[in-house]
Amino acid sequence: MNKPKMATEKGVPSNSRVLMLLSQLERMNGDTMLVDADMGRQVTSKILHLIQTQEKTRKEVMSKGSSGMEVILASLENTRDLQTILNILYILNELLTVGGGRRVGVFVSKGGTGVLLQLVLSASKDTPPSEELLLQLHSLLAKVGPKDRKLGVKARLNGALNVTVTLLKQNLQNNKLLLPCLQVLRVYSANSVNAISLGKNGVVDLMFKIIGPYSKKNTTLLKVSLDTLGVLLKSKTNARRAVDRGHVPVLLAVYQDWHRNDTRHRHMLIRKGLLTCLKNVTNIKLGRKAFVDADGMRVLYNTSTECLPVRTLDPLVNTSSLIMRKCFPKNRLPLPTIKSVYQHLLPHLSAGGPVALLYSQAPGGASRKQVYVKPSRVDDVVDESDDNEEAEGDTENDTENEEDEKDHHAANDDIETDLNKLRPRENTRRPFDELRVYERFFLELSEDFQGFNFETQKTGVTGTQASNKTQRPIILPTAQALPPKRPIPARAESHLAKGEHASSPAPPPPLELDSILISKDQDCPPRHAPRPTPEAGLEQELAQKMERVSLEGAGPPSGAGGLGEVAGGRQVQPPLLAGGMVGGVVGGVASWRAAGGGGGVEGLGEEGPEEEGAVLEVPDTALLLPLHDPDLYVEMVKSTSSVPQFSEVAYPDYFGHVAPTFREPILERVYGVQRSKIFQDIERMIHPNDILDKVVYDLDAPSCPVLDDGESLKFNSQFESGNLRKAIQVRKFEYDLVLNSDINSNHYHQWFYFEVSGMRVGAPYRFNIINCEKSNSQFNYGMQVLMYSVQEAISGSPRWVRTGTDICYYKNHFSRSSLAAGGQKGRSYYTTTFSTAFSHRDDVCYFAYHYPYTYSTLKMHLAKLEALQTPQIYLRQDVLCETLGGNPCPLLTITAMPESTSNEHICQLRNRPLVFLSSRVHPGETNASWVMKGTLEFLMGTSPQAHSLRETYIFKIVPMLNPDGVINGNHRCSLSGEDLNRQWQSPVPDLHPTIYHTKSLLQYLAAIQRAPLVFCDYHGHSRKKNVFMYGCSVKETVWQSNINATSCDLHEDLGYRTLPKILSQTAPAFSMASCSFVVERSKEATARVVVWREIGVQRSYTMESTLCGCDQGKYKGLQIGTRELEEMGAQFCVALLRLKRLTSPLELRHHPHLLDVEGDMIETRVKVASSPTTYVLEEDEPAFLEEVDYSAESNDEDPDNDPDNDPQDSLVRSEANHRDSLT
Ligand SMILES: [Zn+2]
Repeated sequence: MNKPKMATEKGVPSNSRVLMLLSQLERMNGDTMLVDADMGRQVTSKILHLIQTQEKTRKEVMSKGSSGMEVILASLENTRDLQTILNILYILNELLTVGGGRRVGVFVSKGGTGVLLQLVLSASKDTPPSEELLLQLHSLLAKVGPKDRKLGVKARLNGALNVTVTLLKQNLQNNKLLLPCLQVLRVYSANSVNAISLGKNGVVDLMFKIIGPYSKKNTTLLKVSLDTLGVLLKSKTNARRAVDRGHVPVLLAVYQDWHRNDTRHRHMLIRKGLLTCLKNVTNIKLGRKAFVDADGMRVLYNTSTECLPVRTLDPLVNTSSLIMRKCFPKNRLPLPTIKSVYQHLLPHLSAGGPVALLYSQAPGGASRKQVYVKPSRVDDVVDESDDNEEAEGDTENDTENEEDEKDHHAANDDIETDLNKLRPRENTRRPFDELRVYERFFLELSEDFQGFNFETQKTGVTGTQASNKTQRPIILPTAQALPPKRPIPARAESHLAKGEHASSPAPPPPLELDSILISKDQDCPPRHAPRPTPEAGLEQELAQKMERVSLEGAGPPSGAGGLGEVAGGRQVQPPLLAGGMVGGVVGGVASWRAAGGGGGVEGLGEEGPEEEGAVLEVPDTALLLPLHDPDLYVEMVKSTSSVPQFSEVAYPDYFGHVAPTFREPILERVYGVQRSKIFQDIERMIHPNDILDKVVYDLDAPSCPVLDDGESLKFNSQFESGNLRKAIQVRKFEYDLVLNSDINSNHYHQWFYFEVSGMRVGAPYRFNIINCEKSNSQFNYGMQVLMYSVQEAISGSPRWVRTGTDICYYKNHFSRSSLAAGGQKGRSYYTTTFSTAFSHRDDVCYFAYHYPYTYSTLKMHLAKLEALQTPQIYLRQDVLCETLGGNPCPLLTITAMPESTSNEHICQLRNRPLVFLSSRVHPGETNASWVMKGTLEFLMGTSPQAHSLRETYIFKIVPMLNPDGVINGNHRCSLSGEDLNRQWQSPVPDLHPTIYHTKSLLQYLAAIQRAPLVFCDYHGHSRKKNVFMYGCSVKETVWQSNINATSCDLHEDLGYRTLPKILSQTAPAFSMASCSFVVERSKEATARVVVWREIGVQRSYTMESTLCGCDQGKYKGLQIGTRELEEMGAQFCVALLRLKRLTSPLELRHHPHLLDVEGDMIETRVKVASSPTTYVLEEDEPAFLEEVDYSAESNDEDPDNDPDNDPQDSLVRSEANHRDSLT
């Protein structure tokens, strides 16, 4: 059978009746229609009948290739006869009611909406207008409106907007007509310009005439009115109008009425519609005020609480919570100033630098003069500008649908597109004479090893020459001449003679360190040496503050004042142990009583087991922690200079940390946690009398209060790396905690490390850190805080464990001064909240953001590593320079001793390529130090791999680039209040000494043509999982950007990919997929980019380790621990060995799979093309159910941020706004 062909096309009669009628209609178009109205009526009426009765005919008209719709629309345009028009409208209604969106799409694409709008306009001019006609027109518009994005604009331009409004006003009682009119209005209102115009015409008030109390009648009408009103109220002008007319209390009253009566939850959409209106009206400040004045907080709190048990009502609870959070009156942080509690004298202030700006002082002119930074009296916690009324009115520009595109571009803004900045920088070379001073740090390159005693080489950069290097001409036998395993007795003797490390009289035999796992699990020789007995008279010295050990004025640190050395001869008091554990301590620090310092817990164990002798056992961890020694740790603390002059030692650092053997899985996110936490916060406002508001710890107070009424926890943070500024008890078991800013700064709160005691066993404690700054955190994705229990430690488990339930991170109601938010107004802080119960009475527990690793710990580890030295190992510890705080910055050189003093062997040593490593420029990234520990331990090990590594490379290592920041509990900065990893382009010697001198070392190497083969700076990443690298590639940067690729020389060695590629195959925590080799503008002054561009190191990396855990590989689903981090550091070394093998051409052919970089690049390129923003997004976590609550914005600056509509998008946007780069 022939398919019916549209008769109109070729005049061929069709066997389909409806198509014949249509072709008849088409022939009538034009004059006939006007002359013979009857004819038109008849034909259209017949078509209508067919269409109403036969589904087949509808299909025929709408089938592909049919021009039926054109004919119908043309007839509609041409006819003037009301009945014909109505017939056609009925036909269209029939056609478009079924068939889904495709038929409507055809209608719209043929210009149908325009025809309808034209008819609306002409119908309105008839007197009297035909109600039926207008009804039919609006029904059709309501159907097609959602499919025609331009309908709103078209309607406004041709005047149809006001016809509908007038019609509505005249027919408020006519429900039949009211519904389609409202539906059309709902479509019109979506256009922001229309919304303002409709508001002016009284539509907002009109809606309130329709919206009434609970009634089962006309719920459809009510729903549409609420939708329309909700959309209209997105306009600030309309919102203000609604507030002015007193509609906010009305909305609340109606909502309550529905909440009470809709007991079977049949009308949730109406209730949701009411909340949406409230949500939009409270986007303006006046709206929030009206809401609070109308007792909105209590109304929504109570209704939500009643809704909570019914899961299907979650949308109501979530929207209510969003509104309440917005309207929650902004609080100021409970602080006198947001500037750090401690200040530090700087040698000078750089004009326009952060500190000069912070303290509004003229920059110090004389560079020699010390500028004292005085605390200002200005209240900087909140600024009045935050209270400014929002900008007047809405913008009248019709900019709909353009926003999305703008957002897309923002993500790629950070790519470096200046090709000159992607090319090597030659103009920065310093004159060699200036760099010659750094020669002393590369003695291995000039040494002839005739009578070399590397042991005494400890020199500062400004120090006198290592003139004592030949003072003790001990002829050191070469490795060949020595027994392989035994350490040199002479070495140990010299140690003892100098009084160093008296606690380890017997040098431990070399340990197997080739793998972290093995070294930890294997039996090590036990230490038989008894701990030294405490010095007499220590107690009376305890009351005194520890004297600050200043190396200033004492001349540059020379050989005698090197690292890891006890400050012999100086009057230094031993530090107190924090936590105030009392009792004769067995071993190391026996009888150090907590006299006044710390929490001062008198008689901690009054009823506890301690009573029987009050003995504090020091866990013997020597077997498990070969690099840890409590006594040595205390010695190291004595020579560490802190700004607050800490006089206490935290137990975890003293006892050490033995990584637990059990698995610590990444937490599953529990639905509703965030919401319930926020509700508890809102309760504070609803029931203020339940709130204690009792300050229990306060560094700002002249004498930090020490309450001991048994009702509150005791807090302490006054020890190395400690960070807690204030603790406020808000409920019996709930505390608000405020973190201290980095010194000489007013922000960077994230790192915390504090001690609590006086807990009740089993009680559900909740802790809220209320001044966090980042917009999201891994605490939302399964990361837990770390806790250390002293009782556990004493009973044999000295360790940090992942702790906490009900953990989440959300924006709170504490407003952030624009001074601390980079000039942005209306920002808030974020809360990290976690709950925990304590299992031991009389315990002292510590909480930390991540596994602490103090500067004193580093010094202890270095001293212990030195003891691992064998005759085959060349290890030199130099002091690179002194920090602003007066602490030496260690520089290590590790390689293998030459096999002999023969020319050949000396040359082999000198020709070894250099590997330059650094770490811990950001104090809060303690994981970087644990990775570095793994690297150092491996390099000093006796495994064959370690041996060949040392024979292959010369390692130059700065294990802690920011000792001052680490010591003083900073999160990101040094004492200059600056992020040191943004100073590499032009470091200032007396403000950024460690960066200046580290860069100089590299410049020296470049000048003598010995630029390192690999440079890597270890970091931690707070928002991503796994371990990964950032590198630098011109090619990949160009691909990511819109630069014309032909303008760039695209020949690039792919070698930068080899090391990460090897790591991805060997290190379980490492993920190649997370690596990026794009050069970002915001990173141009980081170590990675500067070393790549200025020093010319192709393999210049940042290695980022997660603070949370892994989502791939062997450790998938687990939180990361120190064992995994140390393993990473060891694997990095192994990878370097492979890199060497692979880069030697002979070996290359044996490992083709490892060098499949081309294939790898193509892979990346494909990924890049499909997802242009992958590399910039700090956020790589999936959206979770409660995103709505999380990203709630309450600031007027960002009214578009509507998480209800598009949580993903708003998240991305807020990320882009304050993306904090972490490298
Ligand atoms: Zn970092």
